[in-house]
Amino acid sequence: MTPPPPRLENRLPPEDLLERDEHPLRELAWLLAASLFALAVLVLAAGLAARWLAPHLPFQQEVALAERLLDEPVPTDPQARARHEALQALADRVAARMALPAGMQVRVTDDPSNLVNAYATLGGRIRIFHGLLRKLESEEALAALLAHEIAHVKHRHVASSLGHGLAVALVLSVVAPEGAAQAAQGLLGGAAQLALLGYSRENERLADDEALAASLALYGHAGGVVQLFQVLPQADAPAGTAWLRSHPDTAERLARVQAAAAARAASAPAALTPLAHALRQLPPER
Ligand SMILES: [Zn+2]
Repeated sequence: MTPPPPRLENRLPPEDLLERDEHPLRELAWLLAASLFALAVLVLAAGLAARWLAPHLPFQQEVALAERLLDEPVPTDPQARARHEALQALADRVAARMALPAGMQVRVTDDPSNLVNAYATLGGRIRIFHGLLRKLESEEALAALLAHEIAHVKHRHVASSLGHGLAVALVLSVVAPEGAAQAAQGLLGGAAQLALLGYSRENERLADDEALAASLALYGHAGGVVQLFQVLPQADAPAGTAWLRSHPDTAERLARVQAAAAARAASAPAALTPLAHALRQLPPER
């Protein structure tokens, strides 16, 4: 028995094909928009989750990422090397009075830019700009500044203030150190430090309190902290002063540490210790 021949016919496409609501291109556009939206939600959720997770990761995770992202070779120029060593030696003396968690260390470097600023970033890395070094008149004031930044490291404020990109990189680095560093570099264009958000007022107070306590422990007076707040830009400083953006209310904070120092009857000596020679020999402004 032969099967019946297949019924073939030429049918014209429906006349309303082009006017139909479910135009194939429109569907594709909707699909794309929905996927992009889902992706954006996913990225945002990952960023938020990473920012929550970052300060709970072991500090060594930050150190490993900082070594890949931030660390530069020790300077070979003798003047720069002496400056580097003087900064690190003072930071180590200050840190020794601050009861850092076991295994936590800070690394201080300087930046030739004339910005009046300093900041702490990933892995206990602290950077001081020459603009600020030029304003500091004593070792005690520099020690107070270092203590303030070390406190941000000690309390993991840095890890809590990472922008989404860097927080995601830090979390990723737990599973894929190389990949995470490369991704972070791509994301940030090498400017990892700029991806830090500001600290809360509460965190700033805590860092000020630690700076005061470390200064008292090291020198027996609060002269350095007071001098630090006196040389830092005040509220009426020109806009764009970097320290002000991350550290507002300088005047209020000066009043607070002065009151705290007075309460502890820790009056400053007539003269503070001049900054080490190596820290006063800065290259010309640029
Ligand atoms: Zn601060």
